[in-house]
Amino acid sequence: MTVSAIEYTRLGPPKLRLYAMRCSSCGKLSPWWEKNHCYECGGGDLTHEELAGGGEITNYTVVYYPPRDFLGQEPYVVGHIQMDEDVLLPAPVVDVAPDDVEVGTRVTSTLRRMKLGHEGDIYYGHKFVVE
Ligand SMILES: [Zn+2]
Repeated sequence: MTVSAIEYTRLGPPKLRLYAMRCSSCGKLSPWWEKNHCYECGGGDLTHEELAGGGEITNYTVVYYPPRDFLGQEPYVVGHIQMDEDVLLPAPVVDVAPDDVEVGTRVTSTLRRMKLGHEGDIYYGHKFVVE
């Protein structure tokens, strides 16, 4: 979830919680962006569930040529984080040299500046730091 400072002011802190979507049919969690269909059973009744923030890197890549909004942050690590609640989320891993990142590394979520918007507005989102 990435939110600009303007949206944050308008919508308030709950928008910036780290959450996933719990399926009422099978009980599995799907990523936060999946609002209508459970990844496991296809069920359509999903509710927000806040995550504690801990997880483990299952794979990652190092970005050397970022999209425009992320210029200046390279090189940076984007990992797949297997959250302790059993849902997989892609997210940047920060405050660590790319060479020091390994599969299996324990990480925890933190709120950071994500990017600069096209009109100069600052976007915040969840990144992960090594525990
Ligand atoms: Zn389901």
